[in-house]
Amino acid sequence: MKAKIQALAKNIKSEVITNRRHLHQNPELSFQEYNTVKFVSEKLQEMGIDLQESKAETGLVALIKGKNPEKKVIALRADMDALPIIEQNEVDYKSQNEGVMHACGHDVHTASLLGAAKILNELKEEFEGTVKLIFQPGEEQLPGGASLMIKDGALQNPNPEAIIGQHVMPLIPVGKVGFRAGMYMASCDELHITVKGKGGHGALPELTIDPIVISANMIVSLQQIVSRGAPPKIPCVLTFGDIHGHGATNVIPDEVKIQGTFRTMNEEWRAEAHERMVKMATGIVEGMGGTVEFEIRKGYPYLENDEQLTHKNRARAVDYLGEENIVDLDIWLGAEDFSYYTQEMKACFYRLGTRNESKGIVSAVHTPTFDIDEDALEIGAGFMAYLAIQELTEN
Ligand SMILES: [Zn+2]
Ligand SMILES: [Zn+2]
Repeated sequence: MKAKIQALAKNIKSEVITNRRHLHQNPELSFQEYNTVKFVSEKLQEMGIDLQESKAETGLVALIKGKNPEKKVIALRADMDALPIIEQNEVDYKSQNEGVMHACGHDVHTASLLGAAKILNELKEEFEGTVKLIFQPGEEQLPGGASLMIKDGALQNPNPEAIIGQHVMPLIPVGKVGFRAGMYMASCDELHITVKGKGGHGALPELTIDPIVISANMIVSLQQIVSRGAPPKIPCVLTFGDIHGHGATNVIPDEVKIQGTFRTMNEEWRAEAHERMVKMATGIVEGMGGTVEFEIRKGYPYLENDEQLTHKNRARAVDYLGEENIVDLDIWLGAEDFSYYTQEMKACFYRLGTRNESKGIVSAVHTPTFDIDEDALEIGAGFMAYLAIQELTEN
């Protein structure tokens, strides 16, 4: 089966590259993936995969049924949205939608899943069970396309036992894939704080309630949520990246606005930290005579890879690519809406290496010069198909 899949992946490589380039040239922002999903739907139809259902407006779910389709169902997921970035790569597949760019590799994920679909569809007489393909919108923007897909029933009829997702990683050389079982990526919440005092002349502080001094105290104290509150085993980050008080050298402003991010890797601690932050901020600000509005905009949850499934997939990667091509990933405090699926079922989110220093392909995701070595697409399509079939086949 492995040799068969590898041969098929090689055969369709140029087609996967063509699809990826089409997607790359025609990027669409989060929740506006109308042409993208139409393209995906047409490609699936060309393959004869008619069991499609629209979800979450610009998402799509499709089924590839093997023999005995009820036996077991496995889901494969790709995200399809692009970012508001002006592409700086001078390539013939450069974005034609000025100001929008596939700078997170979601074109790669979509083209790879289409390739995997083609392989699986050709082999459907040779495996038992069903593969559910999930093409989702809006990974880059809250509330996250994954959460909308789940609400819209993407995980029902049929209900998959497990879900697998891949994401490009420009730190990993092309030809390799990366895994991490258990704790992998962080929850991510936005903090929007307004500290209100009473402005006045900088020379007459006694007549004011200085929101600058109050904010300074509050910011320093809130770091203790991390250093004294978070259990040391749980990674946790609190960063304030924006602070504005519109006074002057001799003017104390009425209020200060502060924005930040809170990230961690445990849902219970996350909820507790939210409460503690608001309580601490309120206590400090009110104790100093001001008032505070503390808004927490909840982002994606923490991403946990199922231990057993991830170990199995790592072993399958050794089999498919060789031990020398496996990278063991460290935890990463970035966020990813695949985490919503990990809360629903066994899940594995792994990384696809796309770096090639000899070709100058080294830029990070979310930058205007991000690109991939397209040799990664052969693995992106073939290896994903292999994982699905192995998971359906093995106990
Ligand atoms: Zn991204
Ligand atoms: Zn991404």
